[in-house]
Amino acid sequence: ATPTALMVGTGRSAKMGILIKNGEVLEAVNDVTTVVFDKTGTITMGKPEVTDIVGDQSQILPLAASLEANSEHPLAAAVLAKAKGEGITVAPAADFQAIEGKGVAATVNGQTAFIGNDKLLADHNMIDDLKQTAIKLQTAAKTVVYVGLDHQVIGLIAIQDAPKATSKEAIAALKQRGLKTVMLTGDNERVAKAIADQVGIDSVIADVLPADKADHVKMLQQTGKVAFVGDGINDAPALTVADVGIAMGSGTDIAIESGGIVLVKNDLRDVDRALAMSRKTFNRIK
Ligand code: ADP
Ligand code: MG
Repeated sequence: ATPTALMVGTGRSAKMGILIKNGEVLEAVNDVTTVVFDKTGTITMGKPEVTDIVGDQSQILPLAASLEANSEHPLAAAVLAKAKGEGITVAPAADFQAIEGKGVAATVNGQTAFIGNDKLLADHNMIDDLKQTAIKLQTAAKTVVYVGLDHQVIGLIAIQDAPKATSKEAIAALKQRGLKTVMLTGDNERVAKAIADQVGIDSVIADVLPADKADHVKMLQQTGKVAFVGDGINDAPALTVADVGIAMGSGTDIAIESGGIVLVKNDLRDVDRALAMSRKTFNRIK
């Protein structure tokens, strides 16, 4: 009877757009105490837009566009869309270098240039005013990337990625079930907290390098079973390590392969629906 009940359960879920890869996953879902979320593309829409450019406008956006032209990061797409909208011709960059979880460096017009977060700034000069402006923008849930030329920060770009319309409701349903909710992100802590507040997530682990996401999941597993919900290349190790890996259907192939559950409709409320389904299925088996 057990395998039949499982098949019926997973069949029903599949019709709802919740793909459960096997019975073990279904069983683990039942014991989850903490649900960990990636931010970009999972909690948020993953469609970042440039909202503010601080500094010499004629210099910052063209330089940023040259740097981001070879990057696959969602933030790069936002910068390039803005530059295109302004009719900027993108000058080619040489020696392109993607620095994981930090940004991009390259040579533009013979000068060393970079775009990225504060982790890139260790050996760069920063204007105090700019730092204060950055803090204000970050507190307003905007991701700040600094633009630098020859070891001097010359300005910043603020980028906003709004939460999905259903994120808040999805989190509320999980909390209603008594589950702990956590956001795990490579973005800045102020930005992460602002977004977490908007959607009602309990706690935030921010400034996490891509390679460290899985370790944070392992730490959270010390207090109970953990589900991890994500969509990116960066999220694949965390999806694998988690007791239940839940991938967004819109995610990268590697994320989808790493997840035990795939949310085809990209609706975060399906995390709670998956929990409800597995409970029903197991009650039927008992
Ligand atoms: P997430 O957890 O949101 O997917 P990532 O680990 O991919 O974040 O990136 C973390 C941070 O690194 C970004 O918020 C940004 O500050 C910086 N960063 C990474 N790639 C780029 C890039 N191409 N351009 C600008 N900033 C970048
Ligand atoms: Mg993501």
